[in-house]
Amino acid sequence: MKLEQTSAWAGLFYFCSRVRESGKDSQAFITFPEGNGRFINFLHDKVKDKTRLKTIALEIIPNEKGVDVVCLNTETNELKGFHCEKVVFAAPIFTANYLIRDFRANPPAYVKEFQHNAWFVANLFLKDRPKTQFEKDFPFAWDNVLYESPGLGYVNATHQKGIDHGATVLTYYYPMCAEENARAKLFGLGWKELADICLTDLSRAHKDIFELTTRIDIMRWGHAMISPRPNFLWSGAREQAQKSYRDIHFVHSDLSGIALFEEAFYHGLRAAGEILKN
Ligand SMILES: Cc1cc2nc3c(=O)[nH]c(=O)nc-3n(C[C@H](O)[C@H](O)[C@H](O)COP(=O)(O)OP(=O)(O)OC[C@H]3O[C@@H](n4cnc5c(N)ncnc54)[C@H](O)[C@@H]3O)c2cc1C
Repeated sequence: MKLEQTSAWAGLFYFCSRVRESGKDSQAFITFPEGNGRFINFLHDKVKDKTRLKTIALEIIPNEKGVDVVCLNTETNELKGFHCEKVVFAAPIFTANYLIRDFRANPPAYVKEFQHNAWFVANLFLKDRPKTQFEKDFPFAWDNVLYESPGLGYVNATHQKGIDHGATVLTYYYPMCAEENARAKLFGLGWKELADICLTDLSRAHKDIFELTTRIDIMRWGHAMISPRPNFLWSGAREQAQKSYRDIHFVHSDLSGIALFEEAFYHGLRAAGEILKN
């Protein structure tokens, strides 16, 4: 997102919440070779026996006795129905209008306030590290931001190997937030055009990027993190979306308006409390 598209409150919260007391240093970063996968594997391990993978909810139908859920096994293409007393809806909030039958017919106005941007992510395979151009250049770091660039910069995806020379992979991020119809525009661009955008951008800092790159893999994504836009956090939409609908309880971290693990845990615990109370 561009600065003017971003909630100042969210920006401050993101950094301030990392300081236990005013004036103290920020808490240290924790990072793992497998990234967020470390958390996912840890949490999955606890509930393995009760988890069905490769299964997505297609339709959620509240009724007199609770909620019926129709699911599809994406491996076998088998459909299965579940009669549930309660449903914990942990998918992103915008999906509620596609999944909950009553919302499809009458979409609540607040759901469209939960917006996600489109972006593309490119993995560039380099046969060697880019050379520094000037003596005062900052050394090649893990997370790198380019001055006056429309992109978000890139990370050195092999930094945790602790090797500072030779072949590497750079993961480059480009948000499509500057234009209207960004999603349609992104899908209209092919590999060549997107590769050109990322190489041209990176060449601002690394003149040798064209010679060093041997392969580029590009994915066009909807961003998994909600966009904390100005006038969204305190618009009342989050409070409305947090209320259960019949026997469906909403818990996605979208409900905090900012994507952080702590927020996901908070809403999960909140909904568990609500369900156990009833
Ligand atoms: C690149 C990246 C880096 C991040 N780094 C950090 C970090 O360093 N620290 C941090 O605190 N946070 C980080 N986050 C944010 C963090 O990952 C999220 O806040 C957190 O995962 C949100 O958890 P959640 O359970 O609310 O939702 P999600 O993790 O979004 O889970 C929603 C789940 O719903 C599933 N789903 C969707 N539709 C259906 C359906 N129809 N049927 C069944 N299932 C469905 C999805 O597959 C998904 O598994 C990062 C996010 C990204 C994208």
